[in-house]
Amino acid sequence: MAMVIDAAEMRRRNKLTVLNAIRNHPGISRAALSESTGMNKATVSSLVAELMEEQFVVEAGPGSSTGGRRPIRLQFHANAAYSIGVDVQIHSVRLVLCNLDHEVAWERLLPMEPASMSSDELVSQLADSIRQLIHEAPKSPHGVIGIGISLPGLVNYRTGYIHYIPNMGIRDLPLADILQSEFHIPVFIDNDANCGAWAMYRAHPAVESLVFVNVGIGIGAGLVLGGQLYRGIAGLAGEYGHMTIDPMGLRCSCGNRGCWEQYASESALLALWNEVYARTDPGLRCTGFDVVPRLLERAQAGDENAVRAFAHVGHYLGVGLANIANALNPELIVIGGRLAASERFVREELEHTLRARTLPVARDVRLAMAEASVQAVGAAGIVAEETLLRTGDVAGGG
Ligand SMILES: [Zn+2]
Repeated sequence: MAMVIDAAEMRRRNKLTVLNAIRNHPGISRAALSESTGMNKATVSSLVAELMEEQFVVEAGPGSSTGGRRPIRLQFHANAAYSIGVDVQIHSVRLVLCNLDHEVAWERLLPMEPASMSSDELVSQLADSIRQLIHEAPKSPHGVIGIGISLPGLVNYRTGYIHYIPNMGIRDLPLADILQSEFHIPVFIDNDANCGAWAMYRAHPAVESLVFVNVGIGIGAGLVLGGQLYRGIAGLAGEYGHMTIDPMGLRCSCGNRGCWEQYASESALLALWNEVYARTDPGLRCTGFDVVPRLLERAQAGDENAVRAFAHVGHYLGVGLANIANALNPELIVIGGRLAASERFVREELEHTLRARTLPVARDVRLAMAEASVQAVGAAGIVAEETLLRTGDVAGGG
């Protein structure tokens, strides 16, 4: 059966098309909009007028002319609204306030310990921080339009439900519903790798397909394929940490053997360091989450064992990334998570292994390391994408 679209729905869709065209082509004129969208000039003018009244579009003065009257350039007004991004990590929580172009207006790293908090404590502290941030947000026509939360575990993006966050002991929590009824604006939750992938996609407008590999205690990946975040049927796409790279290898928490994250994660670095390099000197041993900063300090001071440990993990990162590059043929692979900070010591071995093991046609994949704030920025960006830019709806208040 064909879908029936009434005139109001048609106009709403056309308006979004115009809004997104202005956003993607800063400075575009009404005539060029009409040409690129296929809508007639009167329709474009009327939709632009409506968007200007709502303050999502502004005129930026005349552009250059090819003769005759110079056309007025149109700009997306990125500061018309803001969204909040929250990145919940095991030992910290990062909050950002972003405008509609993913630009960070405000950022704060909270010294919280979600790993040792109950669900109730976590929800209540998150709500307090979000309330304060909404209060401090700069004045804008539409105010804060939503909240996005990045989480290091199994979450259902569609229902806003947390199934399980390993290492945090939080399970079965309808987090989005709880915060939505508190703040009365849309709340989205997603896993940290998807949030990172989305932020990197928006930061690289020319890239259509990328893989964001989050390397922490485990490894998870976020996939943007053909301009869309790919979540899979159950929202589990990208669990590359449990890809087998050695069928007879190390036992993994998932019950399998030889999973990638047993060789290329922070936990792998910790095990290698404690069991090989610090075996005879208990004073050198690391206890867990301090492993990356402590070994970085040692490597920077010239400790060859620390340099070797990073290179070892870099090699295995390259092995797994080559599998991903061969399977998906992305333009860009981004490494995020705490291990990204050790780029100086993992990159050479990683890149060498990646190039050597990737098929020639897929070999020119670019490699980048992400900033620590990328998951929070992506969470905020998903809000703008899912509200204003997809449905035209904003629920905030100035
Ligand atoms: Zn596993």
